[in-house]
Amino acid sequence: MEVKRHGFCRPFHPLQMTSWLVTAFEITIAYGFVVGLLRGTAQVLYAVLFTLGEILVLVTGVLCTGSDPTDPAVHAHRHALKTHSAFDLSLYSAMCTLCGTVVHPSSKHCGRCNRCVSRFDHHCKWLNNCIGQGNYRLFKALIALVALEEALLVAFDAYVLSVRITDSEEFYLRVKGLGSGLVPQAVLVLICVHLALGLVVLCGVVQLLVLHFYLYCRHMTAYELILEQRGRKHARKVAAEVRQKGENPTDGNMSSPQGDATFALFQQEKRKKGLESEAE
Ligand SMILES: [Zn+2]
Ligand SMILES: [Zn+2]
Repeated sequence: MEVKRHGFCRPFHPLQMTSWLVTAFEITIAYGFVVGLLRGTAQVLYAVLFTLGEILVLVTGVLCTGSDPTDPAVHAHRHALKTHSAFDLSLYSAMCTLCGTVVHPSSKHCGRCNRCVSRFDHHCKWLNNCIGQGNYRLFKALIALVALEEALLVAFDAYVLSVRITDSEEFYLRVKGLGSGLVPQAVLVLICVHLALGLVVLCGVVQLLVLHFYLYCRHMTAYELILEQRGRKHARKVAAEVRQKGENPTDGNMSSPQGDATFALFQQEKRKKGLESEAE
């Protein structure tokens, strides 16, 4: 399987292409209709803020998609093997058999990209790229910027709709002034779709922001959270099986050695990395 270096490598993910289409639709409606339907300070404010926000979102999105979060040890080891130069293997305690190189202990091999990523967080289908130590800051900046841009879009779409509700004659005059050739009802539908789409994206991105704030507070990655949840689920399943067999576990949650195995492994790995867990 080919190694994917960044999110612009083909094949593109359907969700990635969806994000491009949504962005194109949002920009088209914003400049083609919303700006023209606003007046005075609101028009200037929206045009300036939306343009600035969109530039920042696009630049950050391109940088994050085009970034290569591959574990630097992989590149260094491969380079040393290729050039037959000296390489101190004793500096690394882990090895990836799929990459055929040494890796940092925090690295995880991404099956979709076929490469090891240091401090792996998750594989983002929207960016078609892994998120890890190398691009996590960019990713956080991107979701924060998208949240602000969508909030701006939703607020001004709602303001345009309020004009239609309070003064329909004024709204029709503004639509006429656009010179788009569309009837007011069609423009109204476009604004409503724009607003609804903005709300959907805003809700999704705010959820992501909350999740990553939680992960930041716990000093862990999304992948470590998944491992922890799997460990707990497995422990509960084994404890339930033990109870079913008529044995009495001493602990209600995790009692048997088998049940503790996955969770204990996770905790052990976290301790190795010097990460403090707030798990029970
Ligand atoms: Zn690997
Ligand atoms: Zn990946």
